[in-house]
Amino acid sequence: MSVFLEKEFYEMLSEKMKAAVSISCLAAKERGVDIFLIGGIVRDIILGNEIKDIDIAVQSDAVGFCEYLASKYDCKIESTQEKLRTSKVRFNNNVVIDFASTREEKYDSPGVLPSAFNFGCPLNQDVKRRDFTINTLAIKLTGDDKYKLIDYYSGYEDIKNKQIRILHKNSFVDDPSRIIRALKFKERFDFMIEPETYSIMQSYLNNISKDIPLERIKNEFRQYFMINKENIYGEIIKSNAYKLISDNPLKEINTDRIKKMINLNIFKETEIWFLYVACLIVNSNCTDINLNMTAFENKIISETQNMILSGIVDINDNEKIYKKYNDKIDLSLALYFVISGDESVIKFLNVLKQIKVLINGNDLIELGFIPSKYFSEIFENILKEKLKGLLKTKEEEINFVKRHIKKQSD
Ligand code: ATP
Repeated sequence: MSVFLEKEFYEMLSEKMKAAVSISCLAAKERGVDIFLIGGIVRDIILGNEIKDIDIAVQSDAVGFCEYLASKYDCKIESTQEKLRTSKVRFNNNVVIDFASTREEKYDSPGVLPSAFNFGCPLNQDVKRRDFTINTLAIKLTGDDKYKLIDYYSGYEDIKNKQIRILHKNSFVDDPSRIIRALKFKERFDFMIEPETYSIMQSYLNNISKDIPLERIKNEFRQYFMINKENIYGEIIKSNAYKLISDNPLKEINTDRIKKMINLNIFKETEIWFLYVACLIVNSNCTDINLNMTAFENKIISETQNMILSGIVDINDNEKIYKKYNDKIDLSLALYFVISGDESVIKFLNVLKQIKVLINGNDLIELGFIPSKYFSEIFENILKEKLKGLLKTKEEEINFVKRHIKKQSD
């Protein structure tokens, strides 16, 4: 039975999006090429989810098609990936559409990204490279059967049954980042992973190979951990997906601690994913895993490891607290708190971090001191007093220096 999604298309896309798609359809008709809405957008139209990105598959060369589009209509090509024959086009109403030539992909060996070939192939060949049946769906935008749902793998039925299913049994070997993608769609849509897919995933994770392509995995973890749900970390442990990057993850994390850190506003929302990934890898012995971390991200991990090693600090020892945390990156403090629950971090962030010495070098010179390394010792002494709750004002600091600090010449 054929399914037509004209009504859903009209309901789900904004007026601006429809205008941009409609121009694309005109250009396709003029060029005599078939174009299709493809992948996530079709899935989301059926699910009634907000549409963010528009992907169109061009059953021909998408780059040539977009050049024609931009030469004839009010839009411009923003970027092109020559190798993959894709182009991003911005229409005059600011809607952006990603156009991709249909293509096939093959995985030459585990651990490498696929190579693409057969550009402009029939759509049924293109969809073979995709991850899950729910992402293989297309809506035809050209010809007499416009808006017809093209469904080679029963993805429509899987959406209705809320199931995530791979297309073939080698899917996770080809690209293990699909494991995180499966969990992402499961959590995001409240779907289940179809039992055979789940068992193939488990056997992959239980015999995991060393040469897995980690470039995609980091990015998928980033997207996964942006889902705002209580159990997202637990799902990674329960499903064994952590094995992709770690042999010794923290088995559970206290989400109240994460909330406490979020409320302190010490990192951006876009960094939360890193807290979770760090909890997976911070105690791991898989030192050869290179998740493509930046130098900054590596520094956070090593600072946190060091803080864990140095143990919990006495909550009443302000000087020790200050010393331990003062030169640390805020995100390291957040990570350390999430892992250890050491309340002294909260005291530092809320109170001690704000304590600053108010006098400066010029004040000391005015008091008759000669500039030297000794200045930093003086500031340190003042800071120690302030950490005891003394010397609140600048005047009190000056009096302290006058009374207690000897001049070099004395
Ligand atoms: P999201 O809603 O998170 O953006 P999406 O599926 O719409 O998810 P992308 O991740 O940009 O968006 O992927 C676009 C399409 O490309 C998918 O629908 C899927 O068909 C295909 N795809 C993406 N990643 C993979 C992968 N690792 N393996 C196979 N196909 C993939």
